[in-house]
This record gives sequence, structure tokens and C-alpha cells, in this order.
Amino acid sequence: MSNAESVDSGQALDNNSKRMPCPKNRQLILYSNRRQTPILYIFLRTCPLSRHLPNFSNTEIAFSSKSNTQLFLARSLFQLIQCNSLVHVGGKLLNFGFKMGLPLSSLVRWNIFRHFCGGESIEECRTLMQKQMEKGVFSILDYGVEGEKTESGFNASTAEIIRTAKEAARSSEIAFIVFKFTAIASTDLLERVSRCRAKKSPLSDADQIQWTKVEARVDQICKAALDAKRPLMIDAEETWIQLAIDELAKTKMKQCNISGPCIYITFQMYRVDSLNRLKEIHEEAKRDSWHLGVKLVRGAYMEKEREYAQKQNLASPIHPTKDNTDQAYDSALEYCLANLESIGLCAGTHNEKSTVIATTFALQHSDQSPLKIHVKNNLWFSQLLGMSDNLTYNLAAAGLNAAKYVPYGPVHSVLPYLLRRAQENTSVNGQSSRELQLLDIEFTRRKG
Ligand SMILES: Cc1cc2nc3c(=O)[nH]c(=O)nc-3n(C[C@H](O)[C@H](O)[C@H](O)COP(=O)(O)OP(=O)(O)OC[C@H]3O[C@@H](n4cnc5c(N)ncnc54)[C@H](O)[C@@H]3O)c2cc1C
Repeated sequence: MSNAESVDSGQALDNNSKRMPCPKNRQLILYSNRRQTPILYIFLRTCPLSRHLPNFSNTEIAFSSKSNTQLFLARSLFQLIQCNSLVHVGGKLLNFGFKMGLPLSSLVRWNIFRHFCGGESIEECRTLMQKQMEKGVFSILDYGVEGEKTESGFNASTAEIIRTAKEAARSSEIAFIVFKFTAIASTDLLERVSRCRAKKSPLSDADQIQWTKVEARVDQICKAALDAKRPLMIDAEETWIQLAIDELAKTKMKQCNISGPCIYITFQMYRVDSLNRLKEIHEEAKRDSWHLGVKLVRGAYMEKEREYAQKQNLASPIHPTKDNTDQAYDSALEYCLANLESIGLCAGTHNEKSTVIATTFALQHSDQSPLKIHVKNNLWFSQLLGMSDNLTYNLAAAGLNAAKYVPYGPVHSVLPYLLRRAQENTSVNGQSSRELQLLDIEFTRRKG
């Protein structure tokens, strides 16, 4: 019998296990006294699971936590970043300006930062996280620093990520802990380690010393997440550094995911090899009796990947067309949904069709199905702050597990993240027209 089944029936918990209600009684954590690791995380629904597919065009629910002024500012921003050339040139100018030390922080803070980030510190994100939770939406506090270069920078990032775990321990609004490897390790080191792993050759002595420090930082972060009794998600980045990340992450999953998915790794489905890799790792997990934690995304570095492959004279690791990526994403989604008893899934997407696939599955298994408990515990949906509120808030209103990534950090440090969001929302990439359309519908609705 799985842990989940034993918990649902309220039986078969060993005598040393306790139920720990969180302060707001939205979350129940079961853990064993003998092992100080949680055996299961259960987020109690803030409303019963609906029997109907959510209406993702319901803008009243989607923007229920936004004031008229916030809607107006969001609309102005999406109109601005719809312009491809502005995003392209503006991004380069901002990067250059920050490197030259120009005082651009205020300019960025009052428009794009305010829309896509929760604040510069954890404290600044608290009100937003509470407001989201009032609508049933959980938060994933994401320290947005990436591409750190110094030892002191890596240690400072590790300390800050641990602070997000401590914040989660005291706040029921936070569903997952998350981090990026490039916040705690140098990109050059990750690239060299990935190359050695691919060739199955040993690391140089100098690299081994540095890698041991990275492993120690990852250990500290995992421990902090376990102490906070929250699952930990590890973001995916560029292919040439990803092998080192995946191998270390898999080692941690083998250690921590015995009784449930405590560590989640990210599969970027724009990669040609991702679907097979997902199935292979899942086979390994089943064979060795651990749970696989999966965050499914399409992938955020497509242009960089293609340029890199071209420069290195390599075949592109990315699917040739958007359709191919979409098919791979939906196949991976269906595979994970069919295996929810051994896979913890977080669908990280703004794509409505993919979201409908997962939602339909969840609602089909909400009643008498034996998969019901796995849908309840092992299926999450997540979108980035400032994007696709129509999905997040309507999913939450339908009683599904929905969470917003809430990036935060000093303005200059989160700039690469902000520029990726701007890029993703240009008219070429299409997302902004959907956002603008929904904002217009809501304005009209509010005017009566
Ligand atoms: C909660 C969450 C967590 C995330 N974490 C990560 C992460 O760890 N690592 C990461 O890389 N990204 C991450 N992302 C970003 C994510 O990859 C982008 O938001 C995503 O690429 C946008 O895709 P979409 O699924 O929202 O849908 P869509 O808007 O339908 O898809 C756009 C995506 O399709 C792909 N695509 C577009 N055109 C083509 C083409 N011509 N050929 C092939 N593929 C194409 C690209 O991946 C593009 O980004 C995360 C997103 C979310 C919501």
C-alpha cells in the first residue's frame, strides 16, 4: 500500500507518525518521528474539486486580485513589449546600461520588474503571496539570481535559497522551494563537469575540489527543504551545462524520494531527447523503488541553444518546429499523468491546450478513481507571476493545485529573467496578444 493510500483512509500510519496542521490549516504534513524526513505533503484544497473543466476565459476570476490600476499598468506593459524591435534593442541597451553602472534600477522597477517580480526581498513578496493564497493560489518563491561568478556569490545565493526554505517553513502559502544551479555554481565549471560526464572521464583535481563544494551547497539546500517539509524543484538551464545538473539532481532524488517526490527535476520538452530521457529515468526510478519528481516545461533558451549548436557545428538539440515541441510536451504530460502513482508532476506552462489535457485528466479521476489520491497530491500546475492568470486562478478556483512562481531579487540581478519574459511576450512569440485580449475583456466587464 502506498503512503498516499494509507493517509487517505486515515489508517496504517505507524504509531510514531503525527499529523501536523499548518497555521492556516490549509496544509497537512505527515512525517515520521523516527526519520526526520516527511513521508507525505498534503495540501488541503481551499475549495472542493469542480466536476467541470474550468473556463479559462473567465477574467473575473483571473484578475480577481488585481485593482483597476494594476490592470491598466499590465495592459500598458504588454502593449509595449509586443513590439519585437523595442524588446530586442531595449534589452541590449538595458544590459549595457547596467554594466556601465547607469542608475536604471528605478526605471526597470516601476514597470517590467513590478509586473513579473514579487519584490527585491522575501519580505517585499509577503503581501502578494498572501493575496494569492486568498484566491487559493500557492506561491513558489524563486530567488531570481543566476549566472553568479564568484565563490562569495555562490555562498550568498545558497544562504538566500535556504532563507526561502525557512520562509516556507513558517508560511503555508509556499508550496515548493526552487533554485537554479547557476546561482550556486559557475557556468564554466558546470560545462566542464557536463563534458566529463558525457565522456565518462574523471574531473581534473581543481574541478573536483570545486565540484565537491557545489555538492555541499546542494546538500544544504536539500536539507533546508526537507526541514521546511516542502518539495524542492531544480530548474533546467542550457544543454551544455545540464548533464552535470541532472546527474547530481538524480543522486539527490535517489536519496530523498523514497516515500514520495521530495525533489523535482525539470524536463525541457523543446529538447529532442527529453521524452526518451524522461521514460528512462522513470524506469530506473521504478526499478530502484524511488519516486520521480518532474517539472515539465517547454524551455526558455531556444535561440541561445540554436546559436550555440551552429557555432559549435553541432546538430541543434531543439525540435525543429513549435508543433514538434508541443507534441513532445503533451506526450510527456500524458505519460506522467498515466504514472502519477510514481511520478510527482508539476506542469509549468502557459499553454492552454496542454493545461486542458492535464485538467481533463484530473477531473476524470476526481471521484471514484483509484488515481484520485495521486491527482490530489502529485499533480500541480504552475505559471510565472505576471503571465496567464486566467490559467492559475481558474485552476485554483476549480480546486486544483495551482502555484505561481514568484521571482524576486535585486533589480540588476533578475534582469536576464526579465528579458526572457519580455522576449517570450513579443508579438512574434504570441503570448502578449492573449494577455491583452483578456485584459480588455476584464476592463469591459468592470465598466459594466
Ligand atoms: C512554472 C514554470 C517554471 C519554469 N521553469 C523553467 C525551467 O526550469 N527551465 C526553462 O528552460 N524554462 C522554464 N520555464 C519557462 C518555460 O520554458 C517557458 O515559459 C516556456 O518555454 C513557454 O512555453 P509554454 O509552455 O508556456 O507555452 P507556449 O507559449 O505554447 O510555447 C512557447 C515555447 O515553445 C517552444 N517553441 C517556440 N517556437 C518554437 C520553434 N519554432 N521550434 C521549437 N520549439 C519552439 C519554446 O520552448 C517556447 O518557449 C518555466 C515556466 C513556468 C511556467
